[in-house]
Amino acid sequence: MSLLVVGSVAFDAVETPFGSREKMLGGSATHFSLSASFFTDVRVVGVVGEDFGGEEMRVFEERGINTDDLERVAGETFFWRGRYDFDLNTAHTLDTRLNVFADFRPKLSEVSQRSRMVFLGNIQPELQRGVRREVRGAELVALDTMNYWITSVPEQVEAAIREVDVVIINDAEARQLSKEPNLIKAARRILSWGPRALVIKRGEYGAAMFTDGAYFAIPAYPLESVFDPTGAGDTFAGGFMGYLASSGTVDEAAMRRAIIFGSVMASFNVEEFGTERVQRLTHREINERFSAFKRMTHFEEIPFERPAAAATEK
Ligand code: AMP
Repeated sequence: MSLLVVGSVAFDAVETPFGSREKMLGGSATHFSLSASFFTDVRVVGVVGEDFGGEEMRVFEERGINTDDLERVAGETFFWRGRYDFDLNTAHTLDTRLNVFADFRPKLSEVSQRSRMVFLGNIQPELQRGVRREVRGAELVALDTMNYWITSVPEQVEAAIREVDVVIINDAEARQLSKEPNLIKAARRILSWGPRALVIKRGEYGAAMFTDGAYFAIPAYPLESVFDPTGAGDTFAGGFMGYLASSGTVDEAAMRRAIIFGSVMASFNVEEFGTERVQRLTHREINERFSAFKRMTHFEEIPFERPAAAATEK
C-alpha cells in the first residue's frame, strides 16, 4: 500500500556528549521516509533549497523513495541546530532557520492525492489539515506535532488531531497538549477528540499505545551506546506506518507489531549520527532485532498459589 509523508527535509547540526556533526542530512520527512522505505513504497512531499545537492538526493534514490513532490526552490534548505546533554531524551534547540520552509505550501500530485496511508510530519498544523483534506480517500492518516505548535497554536493542533486516525507524539507533548500530568488520563483526553489510536514515544523508556479498549506498552531496545537521538521519533513513525502499509491491515494485532517495528528502527537510528546507520541497514538486521524484542518481552503465565508450607511459616 502506498505511503505518503509530508514534513521537513533539512540540514542538521548536532552536538551530543559523544561527538558532533556540522551539516548532515535531517528533517522529519527524511528520517520517516528512510525508515518506512524498508517496508513499502514511499512518496515524500517537502521543500529544499538550492544547496540541497546530488549527494543528498542520492540518499533518497538509493532507498527507492519517490521525490516527485519534493520541491526545489531558490534559497537555503531548512536548518536546525540542536544539542543533547547526557539526558539524551531531551533535545535543546539552539537555532532554527526556516529558510525555504517558511513559505512552504505542500503541493500534492494526483498520484500523491490517491495515497492510502499518510503521515503528517511535524509542520504547521493548518498545513497538516490542508494535506488531510487533499487525501480524502486515505484509509489511515497519522500525525506528529511538537511543543512549538502546542504552545503557539494549541487550538489548531487539536483541530488537526480531530481529523486523523492515529496520533504519534512523545510523553511530554501528550501532557502539554491535554493539560493533564497523568499520562493515562492525558491519553484518554486526546482519544476523546476522535483518533482511534494514540502512540506515545517515551525515548529510552520505550513506547505505549492507547486505543479505545486496550493498552500496549514495550520497553526500548537495551543499547549500550547511543550516539545521536536526532530523528528517533520520525524513524519510529516510519517503521510503524511502513509496516502497517505493507501488512495492509490496521487491526490491533498489526498495530502492536507496528510498534515493535517502529522501536526496532528507532533503536538503529540512535546508534550513529543522523541517517548514517539507517542508510546501511539490512532486512536481516531488522528481523533479528524484531525477534530480540519478542524474546525480551515474553513471559509464561503461571497461576500462582502460595505453597502450603510457606503459609504456615512464622
Ligand atoms: P525527531 O524525530 O523528533 O528527533 O526530529 C528530528 C528532526 O526534526 C531533525 O532532523 C530536524 O531537522 C527536524 N526539526 C527540528 N525542528 C523542526 C521544526 N520546527 N519543524 C520541522 N522539523 C524540525
